[in-house]
Amino acid sequence: MPKKNKEPQNSKKDEETETKPSESEKSEEKDKEEEPKTKFTFKCTRCDKCCLERGPIPITFWDLELWARNGVIANFMPYLDIYQKPDGVMDLILKPLPPPPEEGDDPSKKEPFSITPIEDLLEVKCPLYNQNEKNCLVYDNRPLSCRVYPLEFDGKNFSIVDVDCPGVGEEGMTKDELKEMRDSAKTMYYELTRIRISLPVLNQIVSQKVMMDLMRQNLEAMSKMSDEDRAKLDEIFKKTGENTPEVGEPPE
Ligand code: SF4
Ligand code: SF4
Repeated sequence: MPKKNKEPQNSKKDEETETKPSESEKSEEKDKEEEPKTKFTFKCTRCDKCCLERGPIPITFWDLELWARNGVIANFMPYLDIYQKPDGVMDLILKPLPPPPEEGDDPSKKEPFSITPIEDLLEVKCPLYNQNEKNCLVYDNRPLSCRVYPLEFDGKNFSIVDVDCPGVGEEGMTKDELKEMRDSAKTMYYELTRIRISLPVLNQIVSQKVMMDLMRQNLEAMSKMSDEDRAKLDEIFKKTGENTPEVGEPPE
């Protein structure tokens, strides 16, 4: 098992610098303490439901560091993608594979460079789940998100993201296992926050670099062209220009 990352130090500091509760807040807190807490017990039944229908799995720096340490990062590259959710949040994900074509589908009618939008893959199996053997192909290197499932920490509270997970309510969880799961859920929260802050910046820098490299390659290719090929290209550009609708004069 990989070592868990320590929580950022400021979380401790925040707890220490919290303002003292007023009398009414104290009594509210006391009431809360007296409320019976729902006991969370969990034991994974290895039913693999979560691997079959969980959709994109968020990846964090914790996972990338683990894979780099174990020398397996290249194995994950074909499955990594960036997913910008409708609310604008950007995640690095394990991208589910599109389902195989259905009977009667004509592959020649498919656009050569078309890709299935991630929104269409939200309930598709994880690409690293072996459905025939019913096991995870990367179990020792499975993402942190899979280790804490179905528990989630939102910075304040814990919650269960999948109440239908058959492991929820199963007896047999030791105190240490519960503590480890809660600590991992907290680590997941901090790691997700960390990567969500970094990803848009990294994405922009990498996109700019890719664009600049493409332009440089195009310029190099054009400088090596014969006069004849260049004339053909000019002809193509001319024709494309003729088909382009006029945009009119720019405003003064
Ligand atoms: S976490 Fe829950 S859904 Fe996933 S394999 Fe375990 S019991 Fe099944
Ligand atoms: S990485 Fe493994 S444990 Fe995680 S969803 Fe995929 S198959 Fe399941």
